[in-house]
Amino acid sequence: MELTATELWSRILQMVQAGLPEQAFRTWFAGTTAVALSNRELLVEVSNDFHAEWIEDRYGTLLEKAAARVVGRPLSISFLPGESPPLPQLPTVDLTDSLGPLQTTADPRLSPSPTRPNPGLNRRYTFERFVVGGDNQLAAAAASAVAKKPALLYNPLFLYGGVGLGKTHLMHAIGNAILDSDPSKKVAYAPSEQFMNELVTAIQEGTTAAFRHRYRRMDLLLIDDVHFLKGKEATQEEFFHTFNALYDAHKQIVLTSDRPPKEIPGLEERLISRFQWGLVADIKAPNYETRVAILRKKAADDSLTLDAEVIDFIARSCTSSVRELEGAIIKLLAYSSLKNLEISISMAKTALQGELGSRVSGGTPGITPERIQEAVAKGWGIQSAALSSKRRTKDLTVPRQVAMYLIRELLNLPLVQIGNLFGGRDHSTVIHSIRKVEETVVVDPSFERKVQALKDELSRLV
Ligand code: ADP
Ligand code: MG
Repeated sequence: MELTATELWSRILQMVQAGLPEQAFRTWFAGTTAVALSNRELLVEVSNDFHAEWIEDRYGTLLEKAAARVVGRPLSISFLPGESPPLPQLPTVDLTDSLGPLQTTADPRLSPSPTRPNPGLNRRYTFERFVVGGDNQLAAAAASAVAKKPALLYNPLFLYGGVGLGKTHLMHAIGNAILDSDPSKKVAYAPSEQFMNELVTAIQEGTTAAFRHRYRRMDLLLIDDVHFLKGKEATQEEFFHTFNALYDAHKQIVLTSDRPPKEIPGLEERLISRFQWGLVADIKAPNYETRVAILRKKAADDSLTLDAEVIDFIARSCTSSVRELEGAIIKLLAYSSLKNLEISISMAKTALQGELGSRVSGGTPGITPERIQEAVAKGWGIQSAALSSKRRTKDLTVPRQVAMYLIRELLNLPLVQIGNLFGGRDHSTVIHSIRKVEETVVVDPSFERKVQALKDELSRLV
């Protein structure tokens, strides 16, 4: 029997589907695609890092068991975020008796062509995925014009606006569009800090000539967040010459910043003036209509069903940035999967209430993350500061997990924020911790009592 990666993956999914709630299945598996298969490994592409970690963590074992049943031998399954660099070439080897010759799937969208360079662009940041509204119209139109006619219309294109409003997305969209129409184009994307770090290394290693050559031979140079160049004189000097070289050679330059050029403190006059040579366009926070349109689009892209009431609720609650809207969706998905609940308006209200509550009332009086950490540390006889340390010994991991769990339960803070309270841990670690506690309280009564006692004690603080 011959199975392609796609066929194998669809059989595995058929096997696990029956045992999972429908919403969870759709949420985590609808957008997945098998991209390659070898005799030891199946590679599956998912939407992003968060998705990859989540699926691996929560469903990895289940999926591998199903895979072993289909192919009759152990097979590991790896998940790759869609924006990852080109896929490693897996050898296509025979799975002999059970499966016959194996192939990689030949979906041109997923197997990046060998000639397409990887200048560090996120393939998901395209114009198609960018929702245009009154607040970003000029920036989006200018970006799209630049992608169609590089170096002819607006050079440089300078986009500015607050955090999470789509500057990086538009910048990558220009690069992706230009490479799509001509893969031989030389495109470089670098956050300004990366440009600076590379320069510093080049100076240390005596390779500045190579550094210069690398940037000055580009057809399109994308430098993100140039406000970080403030006060970095040597980098500004180098950038000034790179800018001139590219500009004189009629190559397109695109820059982003959190503010307009003349408001960047510590930026040399000559750079400010060059940054204004082309078009300076701002992006504002999305208004209600744009927020609704973005939520609809994100839901559709992720095959997620959100009814109008839920969309309206999120759009009214998350007003500051597109990133915040995305965070709300991720939170709903995580909540729905953790609690095995379908996404509904009441569920959305519960899941998002922490953020809204704290915004409206200025935070829950009495209970703070620090007090929760202290109470847990005391309960386990450790120092509160150790909870944020990198050490992962058992005496620390359990109270750390409990503290994360209680902060989530009692304050409903965003996962990312909880991770930050514990020495910058990843939000997927936070999800894992919360789940661990939820599982342990079910099987270990003394642990359950201890956690409950802490919860009661903390709730009395209000
Ligand atoms: P910035 O660079 O301005 O801080 P990003 O470009 O990183 O913001 O955008 C934050 C997130 O919001 C990204 O995931 C991006 O895809 C998404 N996003 C921003 N604006 C839009 C938009 N208009 N339509 C769709 N997604 C958007
Ligand atoms: Mg950005």
